Amino acid sequence: MSFRASILTLYPEMFPGNLGMSMSGRAMERGDWSLDAKNIRDYATDKHRSVDDTPAGGGAGMVLRPDILGKAIDDVTEEGDTRPRLLMSPRGKPFTQAKARELADGPGVIIVCGRFEGVDERVIEGRQLEEVSIGDYILSGGEVAAHVVLDSIVRLIPGVMGNKESGETESFENGLLEHPHYTRPVDFEGREIPAVLKSGNHKLIDQWRLEISEKITEERRPDLWQEYLKNSRG
Ligand code: SAH
Repeated sequence: MSFRASILTLYPEMFPGNLGMSMSGRAMERGDWSLDAKNIRDYATDKHRSVDDTPAGGGAGMVLRPDILGKAIDDVTEEGDTRPRLLMSPRGKPFTQAKARELADGPGVIIVCGRFEGVDERVIEGRQLEEVSIGDYILSGGEVAAHVVLDSIVRLIPGVMGNKESGETESFENGLLEHPHYTRPVDFEGREIPAVLKSGNHKLIDQWRLEISEKITEERRPDLWQEYLKNSRG
């Protein structure tokens, strides 16, 4: 069975969108993964097909109803379905490369995209939704976040990325930001490719790349750098 993604959204026409293009699109055509996007509104019961209501206790905006969302989640969950159920949410655990890898090794995901002020807390509890955030800022809906999460997962599904190694040396994979890249021409407006990269000495090149990765990480991401120091000193 290949990786299966089920999306619950009020805007199913946003999918597959960019996920149908480039590397993830080709992988989808090959059958390495599949995606279905269901409209939460299809599970509405009244004649206005409403999915939201005013917040209990008052306040601005609207809240997605737990009964409608609960039914939608149950409908995309098949018998014996072990896929994790994610809720895109700014209150969630920050999404990481490690999480992408963990999910890519699994059977797939069910992703709930919030809208308005968010979803009723009881459906999060009742359906054991795992809240995932893509960063400390507010989007108008979970769809773009779902694209981000799926894009990073799909490229890690076995067989999707052409050159396996190019996944393993990427930023975050070893706790560091990646070294800089260069290609031809050798001279670009007076700037030359660093001599070591033209030396043909792969041990030296690896050493140079590691050193510059460490330097960039220390300068740009003190948080990652502290983690790296902790881990590399055991
Ligand atoms: N009132 C909420 C924000 C709602 S934004 C709060 O203050 O926490 C509407 C929807 O967009 C959310 O339900 C969520 O699904 C999505 N969303 C917004 N920002 C996000 C983020 N940083 N990461 C993941 N999803 C996000």
